[in-house]
Amino acid sequence: MEWCVSMPKVELHAHLNGSVRNSTLFELARVLGEKGVIVFSDVENVIMKDDRTLHEVFKLFDLIHILTTDHSTITRITKEVIEDFASENVVYLELRTTPKRNDSIGMSKRSYMDAVMEGFRAVSSVDVDYCPTGLKIDTVNGTTRKKIYVRFLLSIDRRESTEAAMETVKLALEMRDLGVVGIDLSGNPIVGNWATFLPALKFAREQGLYITLHCGEVPNQEEIKAMIEFLPHRIGHACCFDMENWRRLKSAKIPVEICLTSNIRTETISSIDIHHFVDLYKAKHPLALCTDDFGVFSTSLSGEYGLAASAFSLGKTEMFQLAENAIDFIFADDGVKEDLRATFEAAVEKLD
Ligand code: 5GP
Repeated sequence: MEWCVSMPKVELHAHLNGSVRNSTLFELARVLGEKGVIVFSDVENVIMKDDRTLHEVFKLFDLIHILTTDHSTITRITKEVIEDFASENVVYLELRTTPKRNDSIGMSKRSYMDAVMEGFRAVSSVDVDYCPTGLKIDTVNGTTRKKIYVRFLLSIDRRESTEAAMETVKLALEMRDLGVVGIDLSGNPIVGNWATFLPALKFAREQGLYITLHCGEVPNQEEIKAMIEFLPHRIGHACCFDMENWRRLKSAKIPVEICLTSNIRTETISSIDIHHFVDLYKAKHPLALCTDDFGVFSTSLSGEYGLAASAFSLGKTEMFQLAENAIDFIFADDGVKEDLRATFEAAVEKLD
C-alpha cells in the first residue's frame, strides 16, 4: 500500500535497540564472531527467527545489547534508525532508549546518551529538529529538504533499582536542552515491582518530564490499576486488562500506543481480529499506531498502518485521520504541533 508509505506519520513508541536493521546486526555479529566473542551461526539463527514469545524477545535484546555495546555502534544505530523512519515519511519521532552503564568499556549512562546524540547529529539524508526551542532548517540549493522532528525518551529498565531509575531521571533533566522530553518504563514485565520505580517516576513528573509506561503486557491487574491511577501521559500496549481496568483506562482517557505486529508476534494477543485496537478505536479512545521494535519484528510504521487498514477494514481517510490525531499526544510544544498539523494539511490534498 503505497499511500501508507507516502502519508506523513508520527511514531511515538520505538525502542532504539529494537529498531536496528538486520543487515547491521549481521555485520556487527560477524565482526564479534571473528574476534571470538560470539558464535556467528548461533546469532544468525536467533536474529532470523520470526516468531518469538515475549520472554524470548527479552533474550534477543540481551544478545542485541552485546552486539551494540560500544559508543560508536550506538552512534551508528541511532543515525540509521532516524534515517529509516524518515525514509518512510515519519515526520515526528519519539525514540526511546535505556541509558546503559558498562564500566569495562568506560561507558556511563551519560556517555551512552552522548553517543546517541552524536548519532542524530550525523544524520545526513534528512534535516533533523531535536531542540525543544527549534532548529533553524537551512534550505539547500534553494530546495527545502525533508524534515523530521526527533525527541528522546529515556527508558528505565524494570531490572533496575530505585537509585538507578533516579539516575536516569536526573540524566533526562540534564539533557532537556538536547531534546530529551520524558521517561519510559519498559523491560521484561514479569521482572521488578511498580513500587521500585514509583519514586523516580513521581520525581520526573514533578520536574515536568512526560511519562509513558509499558502497561498490561501481562495480566498483573494490581499493577495495571496502580499505573492507571498514577495518570501517566501515555501508556504502551494495554493488552491484558480486565473489565475494571478497561473502565479505568477509558475514563482516565490516557492515550494508548498500539503496537499490532509486536503484540501478535510475542503472542501477547492471540489473533489480530480480537486486538483491543478495535474496541478503543470505536470508543474514540486516544490512540496511536506504533512499531515498538521494527527491526526485531520486521515491520515498519507504514506496515502497521497497512495492517490496521486491512485487518479492520479502514480506508485511507480514516488511516490518515488516525495518523494526524497522534499529534495531540506527542511530548512536544504547541509550535511543533502546529507545524505538524500544517504538514498533514498539505499532505491531505495529495491523498486521492
Ligand atoms: P534499548 O532501550 O536498549 O534501546 O531498547 C531495547 C530495550 O527496550 C529492551 O531491552 C527492553 O528493555 C525494552 N523493550 C523493547 N521492546 C519491548 C517490549 O515490547 N516490551 C517491553 N516491556 N520492553 C521492551
